[in-house]
Amino acid sequence: MDLRLDRLATLYLALPLTRRASGREFSFPILMYHSVSEEDESRSHAYFRTCTSRALFAEQMSHLHSHGYSACNLAQALDDLGSGRPLATKPVVITFDDGYTDFYRQAFPVLRQYGFSATVFLPTAYIGERPLQFKGRDCLTWAEVRELSEHGIVFGSHTVNHPQLHELRAAEIKEEIVSSKRTIEDRIGSAVDSFAYPFAFPQNDAAFQSMLRDLLRTAGYRNGVCTIVGRGSRHSDPFFLERLPVNSWDDARLFEAKLAGAYDWIATPQRLVKMAKSRAIHLW
Ligand SMILES: [Zn+2]
Repeated sequence: MDLRLDRLATLYLALPLTRRASGREFSFPILMYHSVSEEDESRSHAYFRTCTSRALFAEQMSHLHSHGYSACNLAQALDDLGSGRPLATKPVVITFDDGYTDFYRQAFPVLRQYGFSATVFLPTAYIGERPLQFKGRDCLTWAEVRELSEHGIVFGSHTVNHPQLHELRAAEIKEEIVSSKRTIEDRIGSAVDSFAYPFAFPQNDAAFQSMLRDLLRTAGYRNGVCTIVGRGSRHSDPFFLERLPVNSWDDARLFEAKLAGAYDWIATPQRLVKMAKSRAIHLW
């Protein structure tokens, strides 16, 4: 069994402190799912796993429902944040990266049961008339995307080819974000407002972030998410909102602690590790 130091620190150190500080400032959780499937990921450390079993996903949605959360899209959550008025319900944004077809078969029926919407980020080169594979898993087809869109599921861009954008030239980045947006809009017949950065976000490179933010804004995006751990707040960049990663390892207590903000501390070691890695690259 994995030693989950992040779980222990979250439940026994961060959670009591978060409870004491709660109510001071409004923030909202954006959950980051990838695949809803029973895949065995025991070879990778729990922190890096991306599959959530259907049974656990159903439990998590039931928890959100019974605790008064209402699932909304990013624009609605940001409007709430900007309005400063007290909220009638607790907003949560449920996101899925990579456009896997198990969203259609496993996640959507559960979401529907609770009347929850979700936002699915598509790497458009992997969405076809027939199922195409990304990282060894089948992706949604355009027919499924259209059907889901008609039932209130929101679609965002996850680029065309899912590249490491940080390694591309500005013209290539622009192509990835403009073309994927246009393709999805043509297929579903409505505007695409949201973008999800593929892979780990280069959070220590301010010049890159500024360039990407300008490109996203010019392309017509209104908001976006990335892999920085945390919850959305008035300190967040609306184009690079923090998220809470979820997978099969998230038992009820850890899931609840993440929603409460007790997992936000992970952002600090996450930033330090990235900084150390980029320094090592520059040195060698
Ligand atoms: Zn991805």
